[in-house]
Amino acid sequence: MVSFFLISCQKSTLLNEEKLSVGSLPFFKQWQLSIHLKICAACRRYVQQSEVIDLILQEKLNKNTDSVSNSADDDLTLTPDMRAKLLERLRSEN
Ligand SMILES: [Zn+2]
Repeated sequence: MVSFFLISCQKSTLLNEEKLSVGSLPFFKQWQLSIHLKICAACRRYVQQSEVIDLILQEKLNKNTDSVSNSADDDLTLTPDMRAKLLERLRSEN
């Protein structure tokens, strides 16, 4: 019963990944995630790091491709594989 709205850190990570890759979450999942983030500082930091990574990468990719093309939005998306590797690196540094 408790796990109905108290999700694990692992679940929270998965939900965050889903949110970043899809762009949004269904209401119930978003609600579960936000409750977990309220009580879990580690996951709050993880979410922040994910968003920062996205911003940094988007900026770098944009700079690199700026002179070539402005319409390659689809190619600028971070693949789940790239994201996983980056997050792995961030985690091991902490
Ligand atoms: Zn957590």
